Amino acid sequence: MANPIQQILAQLPAVDECLKWEALRTASETYSHQQLKDAIQTVLNQTRQRVLAGELDQLPAQTVIAATILDCLQAAQKFSLQRVINGTGTVLHTNLGRSVLSPAVQQQVEQTAFHYSNLEFELATGKRGSRYEHLTKVIQTLTGAEDVLVVNNNAAAVLLVLSTLAPQQEVLVSRGELVEIGGAFRIPEVITAAGGVIREVGTTNKTHLADYAAAFTDTTGALLKVHTSNYRIVGFTESVPLPELAALAKEKAVPLVNDLGSGLLLDMRRFGLPYEPTVKECLAQGCDVVTFSGDKLLGGPQAGIIVGKRVFIEQMKKNQLLRALRIDKMTLAALEATLQLYLTEDVALKEIPVLKMLAQTAEECRQKAEHLATLIKQAQLKLSVTVSPDTSAVGGGSYPEHLLPTFVVSLEADQTAEKLQTLLRSGELPIISRIKNERNLLDVRTIDESEFVPLVAQLKKIMNEPDL
Ligand SMILES: *Cc1c(COP(=O)(O)O)cnc(C)c1O
Repeated sequence: MANPIQQILAQLPAVDECLKWEALRTASETYSHQQLKDAIQTVLNQTRQRVLAGELDQLPAQTVIAATILDCLQAAQKFSLQRVINGTGTVLHTNLGRSVLSPAVQQQVEQTAFHYSNLEFELATGKRGSRYEHLTKVIQTLTGAEDVLVVNNNAAAVLLVLSTLAPQQEVLVSRGELVEIGGAFRIPEVITAAGGVIREVGTTNKTHLADYAAAFTDTTGALLKVHTSNYRIVGFTESVPLPELAALAKEKAVPLVNDLGSGLLLDMRRFGLPYEPTVKECLAQGCDVVTFSGDKLLGGPQAGIIVGKRVFIEQMKKNQLLRALRIDKMTLAALEATLQLYLTEDVALKEIPVLKMLAQTAEECRQKAEHLATLIKQAQLKLSVTVSPDTSAVGGGSYPEHLLPTFVVSLEADQTAEKLQTLLRSGELPIISRIKNERNLLDVRTIDESEFVPLVAQLKKIMNEPDL
């Protein structure tokens, strides 16, 4: 007698046989013959593997196999890039898409990207226009800049600025500012990639004005100041105040470039965050060129914004690199819509999700957490649910040391915290949690109240899955 495993395998249907199943008939209308065959093959192979591994002591029923084939077909149609719920509390979570756009952006993108637009066309004259002009006025108003240029991201902005202002020339930069930001962006390497030569000034913890002054030569092309967004040198430190640096740059007739990273348009002290200069203040203090991101604290789409003196920006507009770094019309539309909100500060605070999330007080977070916990408890799942105080991070390399007081809903199930975390990520609407003390935390700072119902529905689905 054949062994039991071989007996089960002998009963596995052939692909052609499955193709005739009634349960798959509607699928054959929706999917191509090849897609259907591939899905059947995949599921039959998986079933064969499970039998061989001793996981099944009989074949699943035909209806079960058919349902798995349908799931497989659906999964193949799913988008790779998808919406998730950010329960980590990190507002600018680089891996989860950084800033969340304002609903106000949607209509402007819809209007201009789904129809023809005056992207590079002057309506007044009927002549060819420039895509870069659309943002000039609003950014001038918000920052006081003479001129403006917008590119694909801030890394591109720094690259374009240095490649325009200091090709084959020395770029002076403090040793304490030769930083790496977000993994692949390293200031020394960007200077080199832009065709510049790094001239390190001062020491890691202390750089004086005299150090800069002594470093100037005939080949100095620019003085670069980098906002050390994602780390702090503490203790015995010193750096040169912007106005002094600006005066020196002016005396030597070399542009002072400031890579601000986040680039604040509003004073963040209102959110309980420590003081950092806004873009406007940096320009007023004498920076010739300032660069910053569109999708950090500004709360817009990925973009790199360059503001500063017209003589320098004009040169950048003529740089061939600009074509390779240029901003797309959807980004342009989203950025203009975001910036418009800033024209009225109260509107910005109400409409820009990043600012709204940062503005939530601990008490507001507590109320939100209690609400979410109640909804989860009402679902009567096999989960222990508690609310506790915790802290959230700003993220995106901004304010690395500063944590915001928040409240979290923590979940505990029969399985280990890691298993539950995987399960939370597994559904149609993945929920990204943070583990602390063997519990999965959902920080409500980054979960909008409108997401509570879908979140609980998702929890119900995953907690009621059989065999988990
Ligand atoms: C984030 C950051 C960058 C890179 O900006 P992207 O928009 O991510 O390209 C460059 N410089 C500083 C100081 C930053 O903080």
